[in-house]
Amino acid sequence: MTRTHGREYLAIPGPSVMPEAVLRAMHRAAPNIYAGELVEMTHSLIPDLKKVARTKHHATFYIGNGHAAWEAALSNVAAAGERVLVPATGRFGHGWADQARGLGIETEVIDFGKSSPVDMNRVADALKADKEKKLKAVLFTHVDTSSSVKNDVKAMRLVLDDLGHPALLMADCIASLGCDRFEMDEWGADVMVAASQKGLMTPPGLGFVFFNDRAAEVRSKMACVSRYWDWVPRSNPTQYFMYSGGTAPTHHLYGLRVALDMMMEEGMENVWARHDRLSRAIWAAVEQWGQGGSLRFNITDPALRSRAVTALRMDAPDATRLREWTESEAGVTLGIGLGMAEPGTPESHGFFRLGHMGHLNPQMVMGMLGSIEAAFNALDIPHGSGALSAATRVIAAG
Ligand SMILES: *Cc1c(COP(=O)(O)O)cnc(C)c1O
Repeated sequence: MTRTHGREYLAIPGPSVMPEAVLRAMHRAAPNIYAGELVEMTHSLIPDLKKVARTKHHATFYIGNGHAAWEAALSNVAAAGERVLVPATGRFGHGWADQARGLGIETEVIDFGKSSPVDMNRVADALKADKEKKLKAVLFTHVDTSSSVKNDVKAMRLVLDDLGHPALLMADCIASLGCDRFEMDEWGADVMVAASQKGLMTPPGLGFVFFNDRAAEVRSKMACVSRYWDWVPRSNPTQYFMYSGGTAPTHHLYGLRVALDMMMEEGMENVWARHDRLSRAIWAAVEQWGQGGSLRFNITDPALRSRAVTALRMDAPDATRLREWTESEAGVTLGIGLGMAEPGTPESHGFFRLGHMGHLNPQMVMGMLGSIEAAFNALDIPHGSGALSAATRVIAAG
């Protein structure tokens, strides 16, 4: 079928769909980076970023992706030879740990597999075993984008507090920010990292690091910090270039301004409620399809699932066939399975993911689900019936 007419839809867990208004805001001549509109506009981003993160503390941005934000955050609080604890619930915890090792930081990784959340008892045991309280931080993934599990940041805080352990709680909210509820101050995260291209609806290219006064205190005791990653000048710039450690990411900032305007206008509670409802519509459809075929959730308990991404499994190679069909015949690109099996192996064709982050409404979700239903039919893949009407009932319930 021709796809020249109509919009294509990238339903992967980042980069996400960019609003036209964001794209329009970026389509402009190069601005003056020394004075005027851009400078004023950049100042205005910081309070709104803090509203999205639900923090009164400090917000910084970096030219870079999520990996850059990982490294930026680590560089401010842990030195080579120091130690961090990493509970991993899919692929991304391992990625952050690896980045720490690249900086010479020692990592203690607890692997919870690919379909389970962090088990707080095991983390507590690891912290108790650290009798000298040497562990400098816990690198905690809020939503793991490969398994689509959502971990409990507040529970992690309580474990640290109960044990009186001083390790910083560092949260990776790259997938979840602006999709799943996250309360930096109330839940007690000391550091939080995010990136522009997921819930923040802006092209890849900006990383964000938020930190509180406890983290600032740890930073102040570091013997040295990479000039580029140092969050001190960025969070308290006396000259404009200090925000970005050099030339500003001018057009990304214009795009981000509009994305934040959209989020502020909707209100964070409503942003989360919309993601919740659309996720539940998707899950209702998946439940139905699963009744008559091999499709299954990677995370069976809905309370543990993210509202940004849903990881699914089915008999190989049907996941890949289904993805290829929706992309070539319906203009909907679904996410590949990530970190579940070695890429290219027969098993890898039994995993896929639905991204549902950011600029998303019911008609987009219904279009995606309808396209998947069409793929099941076109490819003769066994599946249960009633998926689309189950999804519409969730949407209709409001
Ligand atoms: C996307 C993502 C990353 C990596 O971000 P990049 O921009 O690809 O570097 C890290 N952690 C999580 C949870 C993510 O979803």
